[in-house]
Order: sequence, then structure tokens, then C-alpha cells
Amino acid sequence: MPGSQRGECLENKKVSRGRLRIGSIRLNRFTEEFILILIYIYFKSLRAYKIVSMNRSDHLLTLLGSHLSPQATAAAPKKAPKGNFKSCWDHFNMNEFLTPRGQEKKDEIEKFIKANQLNFVEYIEKATLPKFFVDKMKEMKICGMQTKGYGSPEFTIIEACSMFYELGRFDMGLGLFLFLQNGLGIQVYDACCSEEQKARFLPDLIALNKFTCFGLTEPDNGSDATGMITTAKKVDGGYVLNGRKRWPGNAVMADLTIVWAKNISDGNKIQGFVVEKGSKGHSATPIPNKIATRMVQNGNIELNDVFVPEQNRFAKADSFETGLNKCLMESRLTITFIFMGAMAGAFEAAYEYAMKRVQFGKPIAGFQLTQEKLVRMLGEIESCLTLLVRCVLEYQAGKATMGQIAMTKAHISRVGRDVTRTAREIQGANGILWENIALKHMIDMEASHTGEGTYDVNVLVSGRELTGLAAFK
Ligand SMILES: Cc1cc2nc3c(=O)[nH]c(=O)nc-3n(C[C@H](O)[C@H](O)[C@H](O)COP(=O)(O)OP(=O)(O)OC[C@H]3O[C@@H](n4cnc5c(N)ncnc54)[C@H](O)[C@@H]3O)c2cc1C
Repeated sequence: MPGSQRGECLENKKVSRGRLRIGSIRLNRFTEEFILILIYIYFKSLRAYKIVSMNRSDHLLTLLGSHLSPQATAAAPKKAPKGNFKSCWDHFNMNEFLTPRGQEKKDEIEKFIKANQLNFVEYIEKATLPKFFVDKMKEMKICGMQTKGYGSPEFTIIEACSMFYELGRFDMGLGLFLFLQNGLGIQVYDACCSEEQKARFLPDLIALNKFTCFGLTEPDNGSDATGMITTAKKVDGGYVLNGRKRWPGNAVMADLTIVWAKNISDGNKIQGFVVEKGSKGHSATPIPNKIATRMVQNGNIELNDVFVPEQNRFAKADSFETGLNKCLMESRLTITFIFMGAMAGAFEAAYEYAMKRVQFGKPIAGFQLTQEKLVRMLGEIESCLTLLVRCVLEYQAGKATMGQIAMTKAHISRVGRDVTRTAREIQGANGILWENIALKHMIDMEASHTGEGTYDVNVLVSGRELTGLAAFK
């Protein structure tokens, strides 16, 4: 036998000897096996350890863990996992930005949603808004949010946003219903109306006695809002509106429809008009077959020679800059909290699942690949949430620019796609079931990538500010 082969045999012999020592005596393999079996029987009879799905040698190694090498003990199972995580909102103590009253309202929404989760299923299937949800929002008296007066609860902007977040955490559609009444509704009236108009419109909208919607997008003019073809023409005592709008949420249930139109009697300036339900020539029908944000209904609006009285033209929205553009700054910020909530909801569902789902003898949260996904998602969520809160605080202080807001919205809607998709992935096949929620958030996140200006358009708005060069055309 050549020397090298003999050496290998000797090595093998060494390896086949036992790993246990008593004092300076190393046990031979037979004695070691015998002792191990005795110990095994002893512990088995005492039922001291409950270890599932382990083969015999792993079991023995576990029992003897402290006597063996570190490599041998590495595979030993830990106790049932108990992670240090409560929720994405609490992870960096976001409640510090809320007053006790704001926290209370956010918690109340959370409790209500948790108690009713299953009651929403049929409404998601039917693609309709549950009346019991609208009634709860009414009872909570949260509508009006940060508006001053007219029956508003007068929350801070961050408190208002935290409630959008909380609704989005369960369902983006529910968040959008409230947002359309507030962010693209009451806030717009607040910014664009005279005192007389506010006194006429706001109390009913805040009390949720009347509903409103925001009609900007048209079938052939989406991103390029300035290309709109809806017109307003001055006539005696008011205006005549003609055109079509597509996508406004809550359009079918709206008592008051905000219509943005080019005033052809005033240099084609884009101005805002309030069309009241029942006005001759106005109709709103639901857009069918919507896959995302199913509980909130989007509509097609037709305007054929609709007369709008003079007092229903927004007094302070004389042009694109003084009206529409100003409203979009705030609404882009508040709607983004709904997207944040959806991201958080998807992560929390995936986390809970990963902690409970056992494969290869332990919860999947215990594998390195799953931990990388969980930490990556949480890192994305917390950095987006911190960015968003910072942007809102800058806005509140009158410092945030449109470019900063557009960048924040674009960034979060992009990251949200990745996060919700990864959350779904962690849930395996069960991830495609409604009750595991991540896929619903993932589909809704697709709508968030387009609504309130597409990702591309928000990037272009931000890019224009960053470079001083407009790249839209
Ligand atoms: C769930 C949801 C709710 C909505 N709610 C409302 C509402 O309440 N009221 C309302 O008025 N509207 C609403 N919208 C409409 C929304 O504002 C529009 O969908 C959006 O402005 C984009 O318009 P579009 O869909 O016509 O896409 P288009 O403008 O046709 O864009 C199609 C694609 O082309 C890209 N694109 C366009 N221009 C450029 C460019 N210059 N450079 C590079 N890429 C470009 C876009 O990014 C997009 O990817 C809603 C939409 C959704 C999905």
C-alpha cells in the first residue's frame, strides 16, 4: 500500500474513534454508543425533552450538547421562537408623533378592522363598499381630519395620515374611500373655496352626510392633465360643462363631483367646478372588472351640457398653479400613507406566517434566507416610513417642495411592489389565499404605482426640480 494511502487509512481510523472522553481516557466507539443509548433511554423515560422530527443521532447529540464540539451542537433546536417585533409602526416608536387622542383613534380603527376582518370578504368579492364601514367612520367622527372648523375633529396632519396608514394596513380600498372624501375632497374644498362655499359644502362632507369625488383624469388624458378636453363655458348665471372623466373613486356615490375643466371663456385656464348630483346631463357609472382596490368603486363620468351655477366654481382655484397643483401636493403625501400601511400589512402577515410555519423541523423564520427577506423588507419599510414622516413634517412647516413630495411617493410605490411580492413569496402556496393578505396588498400596490400620478410622472416632476430640466416631452 503506498504511503499516502496508508496515511489516509490511519486518518479514517482516528475519525472512527469516539468523540467522548472520561478524564484523559478516550472511549472506544462501542463503549461510546452504549453510553449514548443508556442516556437516551434515561431521558426518553423521563420525558424530559420533547423534540419533534429529529433522527436518533441528532437527538443524542442534543442531549449531550455541552460535551461535544461546537459544530455538533450547532444543529440543536432552540426554544419556541419569540421575536422582538410588535408592528412596523411600533418598531421605531411612530406613536411619538401622535397625541394621546390621535393614538386612541388609530387604535380604535385597528380594533374595528380586526374584529370585522371576515365580514369584509364578501364585499371584496362583490367589489362594493360595506355600509357598516362607512357607518363606523361616521360614528368615529374622524372625517375632516386636519381641516379647521366646520365640525372637523382637527387632528394634526400626521395623525390624519396615521389613520390612512391603519386602514391601508388591512385594505387599500378602505383607506382610499376615506382619502377620497378627505385628501381629494374636503382638503380640496378647504384650499379652493371661499368662506361662503366652505360653509355650504364642508359641514355635510365632514359629517359624512354627503360624499364627494375628484374628477381630473380623462379617458384620453391621464398623465398629461394639461391636455384635458373637458371644457367650461361662461353663460348667464354660471357655466356649461362638457366632457368625460375616468377613474374618480367614489364617483357613483358622490353627491358632489369636483370637475376640473378648461374655462374656454377665460383663456383656457384649468379651474374647478362642483357638479351636484341630479344635475341634468351628468351621469356616473362604475368601472367593472377591477382587480385591485376592489372595495372602493371607480367611475366613468359623462358631462353633456351640464349647467353649474356661478357659486359652484371654486373661488380660489383660478388657475392650474393656484388650484389643482396645490391640492396635489398634500394629497400625494396623505395617500402615500395608505401605501405604507399596505406594505406594513403585507410584512406583518408574512412575519406571522414565517414564525409559525414549520419546515425541515423548525419555523421557516429560523432559516437564513427567510431572515434575510424579513430584515430586508423591514429595513425598506422603516426607511420609507421615516422618509414619509419627515416629508410630512417638512410640508407642515411649509418647507416641502413638490419635487420632494413626488420623489417620496414614487420611491415608496416602487419599494412597495418589492416588499409585498417578497411577503407573498414567504407564504408559499398559502400566499395566494385571500386570508393570508399579502397577495391582495401586492395587487393593490400595482394600483398605487399608477394612482395620484404614475411612478414615471412623479419621477419626472422630481427630476425637473433636481436638474432644472423638464423631461416630460
Ligand atoms: C386605483 C386608482 C384610483 C384613481 N383615482 C382617481 C381619482 O379619484 N380621480 C382621478 O381623476 N383619477 C384617478 N385615477 C387615475 C390616475 O390619476 C391615472 O391613472 C394616472 O394619472 C395615469 O393616467 P393613465 O392611467 O391614463 O396612464 P397614461 O398617462 O396613459 O400612462 C400610461 C403609461 O405611460 C407612462 N407615461 C406617460 N407619460 C409619460 C412620459 N412623459 N414619460 C414617460 N412615461 C410616461 C406612464 O407612466 C404609464 O406607465 C385613479 C387611478 C387608479 C389606478
